[in-house]
Amino acid sequence: MEGFDRIIEEVFAEVKAINDLGEVASYIPELLNVDAQKFGVYLTSISEFKYGKGNFTEKFSIQSISKVLSLSLAYSILGESIWSRLGVEPSGTSYNSLIQLETDRGIPRNPFINAGAIVISDILISNLKDYKNEFLNFVRKLSGGKPIDYSNKIATSERSVGYRNVALCNFIKSFGNIENDPSEVLDFYFDICSLEMSCIELSETFLFLANNGINPHNNEQVLTKSQSKRMNALMQTCGFYDESGEFAFKVGLPGKSGVGGGIVAVHPGHYVITVWSPKLNRKGNSFKGMQFLEKFTTESTLSIF
Ligand code: GLN
Repeated sequence: MEGFDRIIEEVFAEVKAINDLGEVASYIPELLNVDAQKFGVYLTSISEFKYGKGNFTEKFSIQSISKVLSLSLAYSILGESIWSRLGVEPSGTSYNSLIQLETDRGIPRNPFINAGAIVISDILISNLKDYKNEFLNFVRKLSGGKPIDYSNKIATSERSVGYRNVALCNFIKSFGNIENDPSEVLDFYFDICSLEMSCIELSETFLFLANNGINPHNNEQVLTKSQSKRMNALMQTCGFYDESGEFAFKVGLPGKSGVGGGIVAVHPGHYVITVWSPKLNRKGNSFKGMQFLEKFTTESTLSIF
């Protein structure tokens, strides 16, 4: 990991100076209250190299990045049987699209689009007694005991306008692929999306996916080696919706974005890097985050390809 601090410094300065052509997500009213100039980066490695720059200690709304964490918990409980409820194909459509569900008869293409994550929320409700707290404890443990929580403000804000997600959940239910009451499923889905974490917390939390499924903070095997590989494969192919191909092409790492402007990228066996910059490109991914990661993997010449 030698020289990574210098590369982060250089690329950070370069990307900070770029004119940000993105826009802060406005469909969740509360997200508009964030300072659009925030920019943070944090890298943590298996070999315990750690380096941050900018606003990397500040918490932000991780939104869809949480879909990796909810899938990890459901996958650890149910194993491969989970794939009878959802697919593993890139959708090639936006994160909140309804289009394919009709032809696919209520089976979402993958767990990282909203439809898929809604099914995962349903699975967690069916399998856990105190699901809200159990999910939170799962994430806190992965982070090494950091004070991570839902944001009531963000969840309430999204609940007040979440019409597309309500439509998605009811549509899937009509095909029989939601077991619980849609309002309970959506309530949990919005809470999961509202998790707030900093770049440090996210990098530390995702380290198990760079470590063969083992939580490096307590040596617990969270996912099997094969499941961990599959999570990375899914992030590689589906982590950026209809920009997943572009991310693989330009960055070359498994990753996941959220409309809060965060992106987490994993280099299996090596490191996790998190970037946060709130303004999004047209596909709903952080404009500067994408630029930073492209330049970072180019400069470091480390990618999985
Ligand atoms: N909570 C957001 C939604 O459901 C998550 C979307 C995202 O981050 N891409 O629309």
